[in-house]
Parts: sequence; structure tokens; C-alpha cells
Amino acid sequence: MLICPFCNAEVESFHPKSHLLSEWMYKDCYDKKHTMDNLNLSNLTISKAQKGMYKSIICPECEKETQKYDNYASLILTERSPKSPEYLAVKRSYDEPLYNGTLLKISHWENFNFLKFQKFVFATVLRFHLAEKQSGLFLLIDKHFKKMLSIYKQHEAIDDESYPITVVKFLEGDAWKPCVVLPRINKKDGHHIIEFSGGGYHFNIFVSSASFHLNLWI
Ligand SMILES: [Zn+2]
Repeated sequence: MLICPFCNAEVESFHPKSHLLSEWMYKDCYDKKHTMDNLNLSNLTISKAQKGMYKSIICPECEKETQKYDNYASLILTERSPKSPEYLAVKRSYDEPLYNGTLLKISHWENFNFLKFQKFVFATVLRFHLAEKQSGLFLLIDKHFKKMLSIYKQHEAIDDESYPITVVKFLEGDAWKPCVVLPRINKKDGHHIIEFSGGGYHFNIFVSSASFHLNLWI
């Protein structure tokens, strides 16, 4: 018997192919042969992958649940289903403030399901952490894995302060837009972060941020 690290259930086997990054995040990366580059900046390797990366790390039920959140993220972050209730529900307004001499393009979002969005981001980090552990590596120390997992499992209370998330959408023509960057540890403004990219977006998750208050999305 195996114990699922997400739900602690005893299971006979894990899901054989848990995706590490949602397939929609590879969308812009497909070339004519339907292959793309996976950039792993932690060890500076680029590997050709087909339809994403998969590992056997969690039980089938937990895999099914993470897919719900991946799907929600694809509905609100991409325009693949512009008539879906999820896409239409989001109220987007735009602003171009000047910050340190640079004109920023900021989009304010209201009326979206933050819990589902957060679960998509956290599931991506948690899955990749488990995959890294199989190779003797890690993304999160044990304390943070347990805490992020406990927030991921909450279905009512919102905790958006323990691990703040920032999102950047790449503009058309940006060299990074078609890149998939697998989750990795980095530093930003003195904070430890985990970052990953795909589907035209870059995500930062602040891991050491006890006194950090998010007031600007850049
Ligand atoms: Zn499970």
C-alpha cells in the first residue's frame, strides 16, 4: 500500500500520470511537431517534452481534484472559452500607472474564485515538489510543504497572506511568452520565491514573507 502525500489515504497505486504543469500552459509552446522546450533553470537544462511532463506522485482522486483547478485557471486566464460562465464572470479593468519611470500595464480582476485560482497555483508547486523529491531534490522545506498543503485543502477560509502570489502576463512579442519554465526556487526583493511560467504567464509564490504585504503586481 502507498500513502498519498496529498490526502494521506492508503491506496494501492498512485495515478500513473499526474501532470506537473497543466497542459494549457504548454499551448503557445507547441511547434509544428507538437514538441516544446521545458526550461529547467535550476540546473540550466532544456529538455524536449511531448505534451507536458508527468510523474506518479499522488492518488487518482487527488489528481482528479487538481485537474478541476487547472481547468478553472485555463478558463479565466486564457481565451479558449470566452463564453464560459467562469470567463464572463471576471470583471477586468485596466490601469497604466507610472512606477519608477516605467509605465506599467495593470489589470485589476474582480469576481473570480480566488480559492480555486490559489489551489491551481499551490497544486502546481506541491506536485512539482513531490516530483523533485523523487529525484532527491525539493522545492519546499517540510514545514512549508505541510502548511501550503493545509491551505490547499481548505475549502472555506481564505489565507492569501501566508504565500502571496503575483502574476505577470507577458505582452505579445515578449521573448518569454512562449516559454515554459518549470517551478524553481529563486530570490526576489530579498524574499524566497518559487516561480514558474507557461501559457503566457509568469507566477511568483512568496515563501518567506512574514511581514510582506502585497500592494503592487509587477
Ligand atoms: Zn490522495
